Amino acid sequence: MEPFIRTDQYHYIKSQAMHMVHSHSSANDKGVLRVVTDLAMEKVTGYGDWTEEQKIHLTPLTGIKDRGDAELFLNALKSYVIPFDEVSEAGLKKLFPKAKKLKLPDMEIDRKETTYLGWIDKNSGKMFIVAPYKGKRKGLQGTFSSLHKKGICTICNGHEEVGLFVTEIKGKEQGTFIKRGNYICSSSEACNRNLKSLQQLEDFVELMS
Ligand SMILES: [Zn+2]
Repeated sequence: MEPFIRTDQYHYIKSQAMHMVHSHSSANDKGVLRVVTDLAMEKVTGYGDWTEEQKIHLTPLTGIKDRGDAELFLNALKSYVIPFDEVSEAGLKKLFPKAKKLKLPDMEIDRKETTYLGWIDKNSGKMFIVAPYKGKRKGLQGTFSSLHKKGICTICNGHEEVGLFVTEIKGKEQGTFIKRGNYICSSSEACNRNLKSLQQLEDFVELMS
């Protein structure tokens, strides 16, 4: 079967699998566990436009009792995750035509856990983001100043080490610029792990561009 799960959906399913593990370690009541299981399954099947055939691959979620079960389930599910499409040098130039000598970020990442790319360019010190947006790709660039403490990230809503990401966009009048700033995770790897909603990322992209 073709991969059919988006990375953000995978992280959502993962959170539900971990919720199952937690529930089994803290509750013994069979009735309670049945409700928890039914709810988790309902949430997961309702998190995408899955076909009946695709849903079959999600049902082992109901059998999860411990961490080992969850790992087995998630490993099996990973073969159905759509990986982040690699960015070519040409693709990067197209996204950031004005950025000089911009190098591709380290792609030694788990592309099945990656929804967007975020990195600081060593040459310019600027932050670059390549994110999916309404079926296409969009590039954001700006400055990033670390806060060196934890806060809520605008992209993933996680509580992580954050920093202020500021972009400059053209104002309505020619030659004017408007600054937009938001706190986001310092580590894009952590951010991607937390990101359970593509919509949230698209909202962020819209806000910043
Ligand atoms: Zn984040």
